[in-house]
Amino acid sequence: MDLFEHQARQLFEENGILVPRAETADTAEEARFAAERLGGRVVVKAQVKTGGRGKAGGVKLAADPAAAHITARQILGMDIKGHTVRTVMIAEPVGIEAEFYVSYVLDRAAGRFLAIASAEGGMEIEEVAASRPEAVARLTIDPKVGVTAAKAAEIAAAAGLPAATADTLVKLWRVLVREDALLVEVNPLVRTAQGEILALDGKITLDDNARFRQARWGSEQEVRDGDLEATAAAKGLNYVKLDGEVGIIGNGAGLVMSTLDVVAGCGARPANFLDIGGGASAEVMADGLSVVLSDPSVRSVLVNVFGGITACDAVADGIVQALESVRLTKPLVVRLDGNNAARGRAVLDARAHPLVQQATTMDGAARRAADLAHAR
Ligand code: GDP
Ligand code: MN
Repeated sequence: MDLFEHQARQLFEENGILVPRAETADTAEEARFAAERLGGRVVVKAQVKTGGRGKAGGVKLAADPAAAHITARQILGMDIKGHTVRTVMIAEPVGIEAEFYVSYVLDRAAGRFLAIASAEGGMEIEEVAASRPEAVARLTIDPKVGVTAAKAAEIAAAAGLPAATADTLVKLWRVLVREDALLVEVNPLVRTAQGEILALDGKITLDDNARFRQARWGSEQEVRDGDLEATAAAKGLNYVKLDGEVGIIGNGAGLVMSTLDVVAGCGARPANFLDIGGGASAEVMADGLSVVLSDPSVRSVLVNVFGGITACDAVADGIVQALESVRLTKPLVVRLDGNNAARGRAVLDARAHPLVQQATTMDGAARRAADLAHAR
């Protein structure tokens, strides 16, 4: 689970990392009051679980509480890469002298953590890594040893960060360990005119496998916030949000992965990964459809099912029943193959829903779904 910036900020603060004073606000009125308490001049920041908020107009300076009110009204409700802004963080502005990048991320292949750091912070690290790879330092961290003061000094030196950042680097590692995080990223970590090192933005991804001992950041809030991944997780679905426009539902992770590839091969972008598993019941299909359809960036949906233990007619029954409980608002392309495919297709033909069409091959289905997504 990804945390919001304001949650990451709180964890940083609890672990002794300097952060700007800040409050959250769900309304423009609250934003105005928060600005008054924070001294008037503030930064208004969209709280969405995606990066590049600054570029998207989701991070703005406001000169006084009245301006904070207006700015918050502009930012609340804004859509940033498919994420609706429901909360803003009102933060004390910081005079930045230098911006750095630092993150700790699990390197699954190596069975180690990786420290990534750069003296060129503030911009997207992918861009820095692409244009000036030598400006990005990567060091492995032995998880049993962690980031000691010596390791922190080594990271700082390798990336060209001031030695004064080392203390923060140690504390950031502590956050990762205490919270069972897979990623802790600060961009930018800044040096102020007073020489203080402050975390100005934070991204933390928690390990969902540790939820049993990390109940603090419950998912109810996210479900209320309309977070698709949290909503899907609450329904027990294997759903990952992606950036495209073709909703994908399939059975079996391998089939879904190849469906993503085939859709991409047709020049469209998958909007999600959703594996409804082997024993896809009508209820699971309905839950899956409702999650995929509630993604505003979805323009068509592709259901790709290979009937094995679960026969295609059972899946088709599931789709028909799902159409009773979920209002279909976007075209649905269904490809059923394998066990009892003919019967499954007949079930869908009999239902004759105007927005449902069938295809017999995976390529044909993907092409149709891609065309439908682009036609709308
Ligand atoms: P992101 O675009 O989602 O990564 O959001 P950030 O929180 O990183 O904000 C984007 C950029 O806005 C930062 O890189 C800073 O350059 C700038 N920014 C954010 N907060 C402040 C602040 O308090 N003072 C100043 N001067 N700049 C800020
Ligand atoms: Mn940032």
